[in-house]
Amino acid sequence: MPELPEVETIARGLASRVTGDFIESVWLGSKPEPLKSSAAEIAATLQSRRIADVHRMGKHIVFELVGEGRRARRSGAKAQWIVHLGMTGSMLVCKPDAEIAKHTHAVVKLASGRELRFVDPRRFGRLSVARDFDAGGCEPLDVKLDRFISLFHGRKTPIKSALLNQKLLRGVGNIYADESLFRAGIRPRRRAASLTRENLRRLYKSVQEVLKEAISLGGSSVSDYVDSDGQEGSFQLQHRVYGREGERCRACKKVIKRVVIAGRSSHYCPRCQK
Ligand SMILES: [Zn+2]
Repeated sequence: MPELPEVETIARGLASRVTGDFIESVWLGSKPEPLKSSAAEIAATLQSRRIADVHRMGKHIVFELVGEGRRARRSGAKAQWIVHLGMTGSMLVCKPDAEIAKHTHAVVKLASGRELRFVDPRRFGRLSVARDFDAGGCEPLDVKLDRFISLFHGRKTPIKSALLNQKLLRGVGNIYADESLFRAGIRPRRRAASLTRENLRRLYKSVQEVLKEAISLGGSSVSDYVDSDGQEGSFQLQHRVYGREGERCRACKKVIKRVVIAGRSSHYCPRCQK
């Protein structure tokens, strides 16, 4: 599942390519799962609007749309198209003569002649429209230290579960939670409430460091993630614990362990993490 750095990479790629473009028409497939708003509502909201910006909010891609001319006066100028990629979703910018891939659920024709296509084999992705979208939780790259510390204060759940709780921080998933905990020297099963202010300060720093490094490398390519160009990221080569069960820790040579916490695999070094 794409996490914050992968979605950021995709949103930046889309922003650089479709900002300013105008939506001429919208085709939506017949499968109901990808549509969180009704097909009629999505089509009516997107059609004849200009894409003013594309950005990430948590794990969502947000297309900021503006109306033009009579439409802007009639139905309000602004709207948002919200895309959640789920497990296997991708949003591609295609030439109109490119073959339509299997599992294409939406095709948005742009005035530039290109098309935005939403492809999702497993259909956990979601398309919706909104006016003032709120993804909930704090943005991990913007949150201040004191706010970050207060998010975890007094929580009896393992810190790993708290990091994955999207109502606290939005966008951190399994990979970046494991990698952040390794860099902070904290075991995933530790109760959030047991962490000292200094532990949380280190975790705050490592979460931001890991996310920024991953964004700079285009995210992690695990399973079938690709960006809007169909390119893979390379942060997976920097993973120190995630997916390395049974391999040796790069810092101390101890064998990396895997435990299951709240149904999710967690990877950690039993020597580097306390
Ligand atoms: Zn180690």
